[in-house]
Amino acid sequence: MYPNWILQRAQLTPARRALSFEEQSWTFEELKNISVKRATQLTALGIKPKERVAILGPSEPSLIFMMYACMHLQCEMVMLNRKLSKVELQYQIEDAQVEKVLVADEDALLLPDIHTPIVFSAVESTVGKSLEISKEWSLDQTVTIMYTSGTTGLPKGVRQTVGNHQASALASVLNIGLSEEDVWLCTVPLFHISGFSILVRSLLYGNAVKLYKKFDKDQAALDIAEGQVTHMSAVAVMLQRVLQELEDRGLEASPKFKMILAGGGPVPENYIKRAHRLNLMVSQTYGMTETSSQTATLSNEDALRKLGSAGKPLFFNQIKIAGVASPGEMGEILIRGPHVTPGYIGSFSERSSTVDGWLHTGDIGYLDEEGYLFVVDRRSDLLISGGENIYPAEIENVLLSHQAVGEAGVCAIDDETWGQVPVAFIVLKEDVREDELIEFCKERLAKYKVPKYFHVVPNLPRSGSDKLLRRKLKDLLN
Ligand code: ATP
Ligand code: MG
Repeated sequence: MYPNWILQRAQLTPARRALSFEEQSWTFEELKNISVKRATQLTALGIKPKERVAILGPSEPSLIFMMYACMHLQCEMVMLNRKLSKVELQYQIEDAQVEKVLVADEDALLLPDIHTPIVFSAVESTVGKSLEISKEWSLDQTVTIMYTSGTTGLPKGVRQTVGNHQASALASVLNIGLSEEDVWLCTVPLFHISGFSILVRSLLYGNAVKLYKKFDKDQAALDIAEGQVTHMSAVAVMLQRVLQELEDRGLEASPKFKMILAGGGPVPENYIKRAHRLNLMVSQTYGMTETSSQTATLSNEDALRKLGSAGKPLFFNQIKIAGVASPGEMGEILIRGPHVTPGYIGSFSERSSTVDGWLHTGDIGYLDEEGYLFVVDRRSDLLISGGENIYPAEIENVLLSHQAVGEAGVCAIDDETWGQVPVAFIVLKEDVREDELIEFCKERLAKYKVPKYFHVVPNLPRSGSDKLLRRKLKDLLN
C-alpha cells in the first residue's frame, strides 16, 4: 500500500506553497483541507468511493480541488477535454460509462445533454457529509482515465494507476533533479497527462505549481525572464511563441529558470538552437497518455550534442526498436516499465495495451550507438513515394526552419507516377515566394521529399491538445 498523496504531502510539508494562481496562493495544508471538504460535499451529493466520474473544467484551482476530492474518494476520474465538441464529449462519456459528470459552471454549456451533470457551485454550496478518507492507496488503483489525443483515429480511454503516476514522477526526478525552490509553470491542460503529471510531481516532491488559466505567451516569457518559475512544460507551438516573445522583447531566461520540458510531438531543432541563444534550456521528451507522461527525456548537457533526440529512457524504463539488429535502424518503438498503462477501457478494452509486456507505440524511431532515442514519426503517417519511405515530420522540420514559415504540416496525396507524393500546408509569418521555398527544400532534402505542392492556409487543423491532425490536412484542399 502507498500513502494518499495529498494527506501525506500535507503531513510532511504543510506550510510550503503548493499552488499559485493569479494573485492567490495555497499551501499543501490548505489544499488538503479544501479537498477533504469537497470530498465530504461530493459524498453528500451521492458520489460513492471508487465510482467512475467524469470531470470537465478550465485550468483553475477549483478544478484541482475537485480532482483531489475525487482522489480522496478513490474515484476513477475521466478527464474530459474542454476543447472537444459536444459529439466528441458524448462519445467519451458514453464510452467510459461514467456514473456522474462534474462540471465547472462556466463549462456547463459545453456538455452534451446528459442526465445529471453536477456543477462545481452546487458541490461548493452543499453541506458535507462526514466520511473516513482512506490514508492508503494500492498500486493498481486507477486514478485517472485519459483519452488519447485522437491524432491517428478515435481517442482511446487509457487507465493510469497510482503505480503508473508514481513511477513516472520518480523517474522524472531522478533525471531532472529537485530543489525546494522549484516552481513548475503549468500552462498545459490539466485534463491531459502533461498537466496532470505536474500536479502529481508537486504532491510527491513538495514543490509549487504556478497555474495559468490559459497559455499566455507574454506572461510566460516574463515569468521565465524574471525567474518567477523554474520549470515549464510545453508543446512545440507554445515553445515557439515563448521564444518569439523573448526575442521580440530582447529578454532572456533568468539564471533561476532551469528548463522547459518540451513534448507531445516533435520539437523542431531550430527552436532548441534559438532557445539556447536565450540561455533557455529545453529538454525534449517523448511520452504518451499510455505511459503517464515521459518515457525518455534528453538531459540538459546533451541538448545540443544530441539535437533532435528525445534522450535516453528514464531510470525504470526500457525502450527497444521492434525487429532491428543494429543501432540507427528504424522500426516501431516499444516501451516497457512500471509507468505503462495496464490497459484501455470502453470500446478499446479488448485491445491489450502490451504484447509480452511491451507497449507497441505506433511510433517509428531509432536508437543511436549511445542509446539515444530519435522519434521519427507516426507509423500511420508514413508515405511511400516511388518505393521510398518519407516521413512528414522531416519535411515539416525543414519548412519550419525557414523564417517565413510559422506552422507547417505535410501529408500524402495520390500520384499516378509515384503512388504518393508529399504536399505541404503552411501558415506564413511573412510573405515568401513558392519557388524560394522549393529551392530552400531542395538544398536540405532529397528531391523526392520536396513537397509537390505548397498550400498557404490561415491555420492548421489541430486537436484539443494542439497537435497537428495530419489526417485532416487533405480536407483543406476541398
Ligand atoms: P492517438 O493515440 O489517439 O492517435 P496521440 O498518440 O497523439 O493520439 P497522446 O498520447 O496525447 O495521443 O500523444 C502521444 C504521441 O505523441 C506519441 O505516441 C508520439 O506520436 C507523439 N510524441 C510525443 N512526444 C514526442 C516527441 N518527442 N517526438 C515526436 N513525437 C512525439
Ligand atoms: Mg497514441
